Amino acid sequence: MELAQDFTFQKVMEPVRGIEHRIFSDYNIKTLSKVEAVQWTFEASSTNVSDDSGGELRHLSEFLAKKQFDLIINLPMRGGGARRVSSFMTHGYRTRRLAVDYSIPLVTDVKCAKLLIEAMRLIGCREPPMKTHTDCISSRSLLKLPGFIDVHVHVREPGATHKEDYDTCTAAALSGGVTMICAMPNTNPPIVDKESFKLVSDLAKEHARCDYALYVGATSDNAETICSLAPNAAALKMYLNDTFTTMKLTDMTIWEKHLQCWPKNGVLCVHAEKQSMAAVILLASLLDRPIHICHVARKEEILMIALAKQRRVKVTCEVCPHHLFLSTNDLEKLGPGHCEVRPVLCSPEDQQALWENLDVIDVFATDHAPHTVEEKSSKNPPPGYPGIETILPLLLTAVNEGRLTLDELIDKFHRNPKRIFHLPEQMSTYIEVDMNEEWTIPATTQFSKAKWTPFAGKKVKGRVHRVVLRGEVAYVEGEVLVQPGFGQNVREWHSKYLSPAQVEPPVIKEPFDTDGRTNDIFTQLLSDDKHKQQPLQRPHSPAVRPRLDSVGTSHGREIVNAIPTGLPPTRSLAGKDILSVDMFTKDMLNDIFNLAQTFKAYVVKGRPLDEVLRGKIMAAIFYEVSTRTQNSFTAAMQRLGGRVISMDGSTSSVKKGETLEDSVAIMAGYADVVVLRHPQPGAVARAAHHLKGVVKRPLINAGDGVGEHPSQALLDVFTIREEIGTVNGLTITLVGDLKHGRTVHSLARLLTLYVVNLIYVSPKGLEMPKEIMDFVASKGISQKVFNSLEEVLPQTDVLYMTRIQHERFKSEEEYKAACGKFVVTPKLMTRAQRRMIVMHPLPRIDEISTDFDSDPRAAYFRQAEYGMFVRMALLALVCGRGQQH
Ligand SMILES: [Zn+2]
Repeated sequence: MELAQDFTFQKVMEPVRGIEHRIFSDYNIKTLSKVEAVQWTFEASSTNVSDDSGGELRHLSEFLAKKQFDLIINLPMRGGGARRVSSFMTHGYRTRRLAVDYSIPLVTDVKCAKLLIEAMRLIGCREPPMKTHTDCISSRSLLKLPGFIDVHVHVREPGATHKEDYDTCTAAALSGGVTMICAMPNTNPPIVDKESFKLVSDLAKEHARCDYALYVGATSDNAETICSLAPNAAALKMYLNDTFTTMKLTDMTIWEKHLQCWPKNGVLCVHAEKQSMAAVILLASLLDRPIHICHVARKEEILMIALAKQRRVKVTCEVCPHHLFLSTNDLEKLGPGHCEVRPVLCSPEDQQALWENLDVIDVFATDHAPHTVEEKSSKNPPPGYPGIETILPLLLTAVNEGRLTLDELIDKFHRNPKRIFHLPEQMSTYIEVDMNEEWTIPATTQFSKAKWTPFAGKKVKGRVHRVVLRGEVAYVEGEVLVQPGFGQNVREWHSKYLSPAQVEPPVIKEPFDTDGRTNDIFTQLLSDDKHKQQPLQRPHSPAVRPRLDSVGTSHGREIVNAIPTGLPPTRSLAGKDILSVDMFTKDMLNDIFNLAQTFKAYVVKGRPLDEVLRGKIMAAIFYEVSTRTQNSFTAAMQRLGGRVISMDGSTSSVKKGETLEDSVAIMAGYADVVVLRHPQPGAVARAAHHLKGVVKRPLINAGDGVGEHPSQALLDVFTIREEIGTVNGLTITLVGDLKHGRTVHSLARLLTLYVVNLIYVSPKGLEMPKEIMDFVASKGISQKVFNSLEEVLPQTDVLYMTRIQHERFKSEEEYKAACGKFVVTPKLMTRAQRRMIVMHPLPRIDEISTDFDSDPRAAYFRQAEYGMFVRMALLALVCGRGQQH
């Protein structure tokens, strides 16, 4: 089941026929008799949608879980009406999120809602033949993208805070999907020495809401001193053309001095137009140092850079949105003052040349240069446009129009800025955009103090809805939620976020290192004096730029970054033993399943994952034969690049009488993680307890007798999630020997984290044990006991079959009577729903007829495959990429 991405009339019609009870809506829809319009009130209380504990929202989630709404219409309010944030997110946003979580069809678009209502009127909302839990329709096409990086921003603080300051500028950045900015040095005072750097650093630290790095500026007399700030600065900025400060450099001997003094592996940016650009590229080439050209605007400039790149000159460049989306054709509309910008707006021919040479452009940057409306309308209008709120919608529009690919956008506005400027990865940072939302850029900026924009009135398609920065919701639906001071200077991260073990060894293999440690390596190289004499050769030729579509090592690194780190100890699995399902919270399950899903996508696409656990060793100790589980763990470890050593009960010292504890301790000494199966309930926990005092390694229980089998329960829930799309609201029927089957015990306990209905079907004497039923009841989960399979099939969403174990019966007759009773056959399954699944932990004896295997509802072989992805996620998380303590 998937979230439909586009919303067509036909797709509307199907769920309409399924309307049984009520429609929930923020709006009054009075025209429909069978529709109930409800204005929901929320309590301004808790923080997390998934485990909201009190008030009306809980109430709503319960309604959704019980499928008491078949369709939700929720129309986000735009324009008119104050936007309010209750506590964490807006009510509308939480409602929509819940709808998606519970797989309730959701309509969020006014036009679509109108269509839908009209359709309902036409068909008269008659009796529904359709089950609604299978289709989730949304008019939204929400896309998750990385946090964007704008390397060219004029914050105006200190010196001109009436135009902008760190507070407003970074709020504007977040609203535009930008999570990191590099701030230009032409402030007042300008950042040209240690004192001014400290002054601005302190201001930024106090007021910034998003992350940042600060430029330092080149003057005619600071070439020898400013380079001491290289490890702390975003880059050195040289103004070779128009500027209105002391930083204008016209003397070429001074250019040369700066190009020589600034470390070669530092970043040096120049404002250089026309001939100046040609001159500085030549000079940099002669001195064999990389150089970055700011805001390229003209055809002759982009063509020259293309030529330089062809000749392997180490040059990179950026282009601003106003040069891509405006030209001299717009001068009149903008008016004499408002059109002023440097470089000036160029001809449509220049503009076209930029689009034709997209592959030459490394970076998109705004050159966000806010001035007030009064200043722009004055006799002496200062040049510059605000741009940080509008860059992404403009670029998303270009993606929608097919002028730019999404991959190019991410390259030029995230990956390349990060690589060229050696910026670190922002962990747990991403944004969500609606690719389909069409809107018109308003005349005034929402957050920037500029309160005007050259793009006013422009129709765009694509909008930022949510920004998550370092795990916190920083912006959602028009509201900036993080406070001034939340932003961090990313150049200070090396000491704070990385342990010494991770810093070594500083080997740079690629021109653009993407492993998130570059910042640290960079800083280390720069602060090390001996590197100053013999700087490390970092080829900057764009010819070797790694691409996402190629199968290269960078994938492994990206995936390594996808593994959550820095989680609170209550949530992190790093270094923890996995003994019982009772240890898991809903958040942990989400972490495991999301990672398993990512791994699955990589494996399906044939992308390598062997960076993830390269160099790690898993010890598999199996005192009981289980080819399937052992192979599943082994395949999981090897897919992630780790290696496996194994020991089984029939060999080695176990025969000589060595205790379980000793065997496990010795194997643990060789490995980074231990996987243990034992026939005795509690044996694994005992071994784990012993291990704690001897060798600290995470231990995973791979089954202990009739006790626990946590990874099996995890893969069972993951299977349901993958096959049906959700776990909440489902009726799950467990069939077979429920008394001895440890998988059903673990599964029933784990399912109490969701809102489900459980049904048990078992032969007499093999019922679900009372302690499990008491536990499930204590969590408020409904349980029913039946003794016929036929009876429960019509209401079952997940049929979980288990083996009736021969050895549990006193006589052959009793066994035959019991196991013949519950057999899944194609004929029997005609009684079941069309969209449901049959699961089995395998091996089966005869409880599922092989004739049923080709039925799409037969999920048991896929279930085995999902097991590997879940075990990959478990191994990656407990190994914690070296963050065990
Ligand atoms: Zn600028």
